[in-house]
Amino acid sequence: MRTKIVAGNWKMNKTLIEATQLTSEVMTLTGAEINGETKIVLCVPFPYLLSTKNQLGNSPLLVGAQNCSEHDSGAYTGEVSAPMLKSMGIPYVILGHSERRQYFGEDGKLLAKKVDKALANAIIPIFCCGEPLDVRENGTHETLVRTQVEASLFHLAADAIRKVVIAYEPVWAIGTGKTASTQQAQDMHAVIRKLLTTKYGEAVAQSIPILYGGSVKPDNAKELFECPDVDGGLVGGASLKARDFIEIVRGIN
Ligand code: PEP
Repeated sequence: MRTKIVAGNWKMNKTLIEATQLTSEVMTLTGAEINGETKIVLCVPFPYLLSTKNQLGNSPLLVGAQNCSEHDSGAYTGEVSAPMLKSMGIPYVILGHSERRQYFGEDGKLLAKKVDKALANAIIPIFCCGEPLDVRENGTHETLVRTQVEASLFHLAADAIRKVVIAYEPVWAIGTGKTASTQQAQDMHAVIRKLLTTKYGEAVAQSIPILYGGSVKPDNAKELFECPDVDGGLVGGASLKARDFIEIVRGIN
């Protein structure tokens, strides 16, 4: 059985006090009824990684970063490396989010290096892929997503890609309130899984969690998570409200 994951991407939101408050509310609402098999990850801004990790203590919640450098160390002002994340015991990192691709020019080749750095430091990459609206409209979305996955992940050996989590996030659904239909989500997840099967074989492809992201909300999470190839969600806006985030997590049980 594949690991189920719901990850909240806080992006560049919350002051320290607000972040502490949100974490505390999420911890309080994470009751016993939440399936212990589901990994719940809070991807917080860099400055709050350690305080959030300490705050979470022994709770089943995990903390993740939203990016890491393709370098280990050196004169890269403002960057944060995978060895730094490892030194703080951070288990997950989002890589290739569409906002990083769009605003920071991150491309497939660069992301392949970041994926390598994360894996070399025993950090699980949540690798994002997904098409913008014009690509969906001209019907080449499957080709683009295949290219994104191949460019950044297909240099990995089977035992390495097994440690990766993929998040399909159609760009037109991120922060827009428009969600992919369950059919659109399932179709693309099946395309990704078939691509993995062709390259790595059935056993590996069946072991890799593929999350859906793009305006996941409490009222659409359950039906999205019921799709056979959807193994959870990457949640932006709704992860900033503890009650909504936990309702979404409940959708997976
Ligand atoms: C995201 O940024 O990864 C995301 C899915 O955002 P939202 O849920 O707000 O669409």
